[in-house]
Amino acid sequence: METVAVDLGEKSYPIYIGEGILSDLTVLLSKADKWLVITDENVDHLYSEQLAKALGELPYKKLTLVPGESSKSFQTVERIIGAMVEARLTRHSAVIAFGGGVIGDLAGFCSSIYMRGISYVQIPTTLLAQVDSSVGGKTGVNVQAGKNMAGTFYQPQVVIIDTALLETLPIRELTAGLGEVIKYGIIYDYELLNFIEHHFSDFYTCSFTPLNELIRRCCEIKADVVAKDECENGLRKILNFGHTLGHAIETLTGYRRYLHGEAVLIGMYYETLLAQKMGLISEEYGQKINTLISRTGLSMDISDIPADDIARQMTADKKNSDGVISFILPTGQGQVAEYTLTSEQALAFVYEL
Ligand code: ADP
Ligand code: ZN
Repeated sequence: METVAVDLGEKSYPIYIGEGILSDLTVLLSKADKWLVITDENVDHLYSEQLAKALGELPYKKLTLVPGESSKSFQTVERIIGAMVEARLTRHSAVIAFGGGVIGDLAGFCSSIYMRGISYVQIPTTLLAQVDSSVGGKTGVNVQAGKNMAGTFYQPQVVIIDTALLETLPIRELTAGLGEVIKYGIIYDYELLNFIEHHFSDFYTCSFTPLNELIRRCCEIKADVVAKDECENGLRKILNFGHTLGHAIETLTGYRRYLHGEAVLIGMYYETLLAQKMGLISEEYGQKINTLISRTGLSMDISDIPADDIARQMTADKKNSDGVISFILPTGQGQVAEYTLTSEQALAFVYEL
């Protein structure tokens, strides 16, 4: 088992990584008088026995939600808070988020508001959640007006990453997770990019030696960025590489065509071309990135989405204001910088896609 520390002063916490570590759960958890496990039906179906065994004698209740993004609503928040009251959770109790990003975001949000905040533990079960959403303390709920429009910064007590849980993950979800993984290589760590290139097929076969190393390195990067900028005032913005265009196409296709990580892969592909056109990176480096992205087998064809709509949607993003659009773009090996384009410039870019 490996440990990565998230250094946030009094809010610091460890991330434990290893295959099969769920069985050591009682050792890895801090003390609490009661636990509420929040999970979804798919994860519960696959792992309820394993989890029950891992929890052993600990006093716990379980709430199982419908899988998918539609559960990330205030209606579900109401239901979870109700279950917390019913389970008689106190300030000495803790929540266990056992699932993908949806479960982690919801459980984190509810933990941050129940009795003005109780402890929670992340046990992420998707690659995306293991390398991205379970680390850093962003919680979120969707509202009519947009995704993640309500949320808090609220750090977990511990993150427990059992990589063996990925063996049952559908290939498409794995590819989506690789989107955020490749992102770390581009924004922060050129050696990681080479490592991903080298071990690409090993991740799909869940070969644990490279997979554990991959996840550890991604968590280290996320932990480092979050430690330096917990509340996204500066450095943390680099995590948005690929997300400017990615968010736009996700929204314009009604969140039905792409998983988040797939949209990020497409976003990174075109934003890399933009960086190349702007002369920020060499053609050779741009090609290296885009060849790696293409190895996922995901189609980069978005020609049926009108360019006008993409430009308008990027301008409307909550991270942009005053008609200018912020892009994080690669500028060299393991390096990125923020550039702002006017909507006219962005439109020109989109038309050339
Ligand atoms: P993400 O982590 O990508 O944000 P979700 O929380 O929506 O996404 O999870 C994606 C899907 O994968 C859901 O249908 C969820 O039930 C399923 N899932 C989560 N973990 C596993 C796993 N270890 N094995 C199989 N399916 C899983
Ligand atoms: Zn993302």
